[in-house]
Amino acid sequence: QLYQIPEVSKPRHVRVNTLKIDVDSALLELGRGYMVQKDNLVPDLLILPPGADLHNHPLVTNGSVFMQGKASSMVAAALDPKPGWEVLDACAAPGNKTVHLAALMRGKGKIIACELNKERVNRLKETISLSGATNIKVLHGDFLKFNPKDPSFSKVNAILLDPSCSGSGTASSRLDHLLPSYATGHAADVMDTERLNKLAAFQRKALTHALSFAAVERVVYSTCSIHQIENEDVISSVLPLAASYGFQLSTPFPRWQRRGLPVFEGSQHLLRTDPVEDGEGFFIALFTKNNTVNYPEK
Ligand code: SAM
Repeated sequence: QLYQIPEVSKPRHVRVNTLKIDVDSALLELGRGYMVQKDNLVPDLLILPPGADLHNHPLVTNGSVFMQGKASSMVAAALDPKPGWEVLDACAAPGNKTVHLAALMRGKGKIIACELNKERVNRLKETISLSGATNIKVLHGDFLKFNPKDPSFSKVNAILLDPSCSGSGTASSRLDHLLPSYATGHAADVMDTERLNKLAAFQRKALTHALSFAAVERVVYSTCSIHQIENEDVISSVLPLAASYGFQLSTPFPRWQRRGLPVFEGSQHLLRTDPVEDGEGFFIALFTKNNTVNYPEK
C-alpha cells in the first residue's frame, strides 16, 4: 500500500458548535443516520464512520455542527480559553478556530479576529455569522503591524496563532505530490526549500510578535505542516526570547502520544499528529507564563 487517502479510510470528525446545540442533542440527531461516538480526548468532538458525508446535513448547513478534523479542533482546545477572557486570533480566516474559541468561551468575553487577506475576511465573517457568535470583532489588517502596546489590546490575555504554512500535512497537499511536477508547479525541490524558508521566517516573526503582548499569558501556535522547519525549528528559535518574557512550553493534551520531534530539550511538550495515522499532519505548541492566574468569569 503506497498511499492511504484518509478521507475514505479514516473516521470523520465533526465539532459540535455548543453555541447552537448541546453535544448530546447533536449526537442523537446525527445518530439517526450514522454510528456516532464522542471523542475521548477533545471535548465537543464527535466521531463518525469513514466516508460519512455530512456536507448537506441540516446541522451542518445551519451551523450547529462544523466539519472540523480532530487535529484542527485540538488547537483552540489547547489554548483552553475561559468565558470572559479576551483572546486574539491573529491569522483567523476562514474562522474555524475563531468560532471554536467563541464556543469554548460560551459566548462570554471578547475575541479579536485578525485577517490580512480581504477576500478571506469575507469568508471569516460568513463563518462567524453561521456560528451565531456575537462577541467577535473582525479586524482586516496585518497582525505583524499591530502595536502590542496599543490600549485596545491591553486586556488580551491569550493569542491563537495559526499562521500561513505549507499545508504539507493536509490530504490535498499530499495528493499534490502524486502528480508530476509540471502539473503541480513544483518545479524543483530548491523552490520548495525557498518557499519553506520564507514561510518559516514569517512564522517566527509572527510568534515572536505574539509573545510580546504584555498581558498575554497563553499563546498557542499551530500549523498543518509536517516540516520541522515550520514546527520544532520555529519553536526552538524563539525559546530564549519567550523565556525572557516569562513564558515556558506547556504540554497540550498530555495523554496524546505523538509529540514533537526530539530535536531540542523540551520538544516532548509539543504535539504532532500524523498525516496518515491521524488523517492530518498538524503541529501544536503551547506557551504559558509562569504566573498564569485564573481569570474571573465576566
Ligand atoms: N485559523 C484559520 C482556521 O482555522 O480557519 C486558518 C488560518 S490560515 C492557516 C492562515 C491565515 O493567515 C490566512 O487566511 C492568511 O491570509 C492569514 N495571514 C497571513 N499573514 C497574515 C498577517 N500578517 N496578518 C494577519 N493574517 C495573516
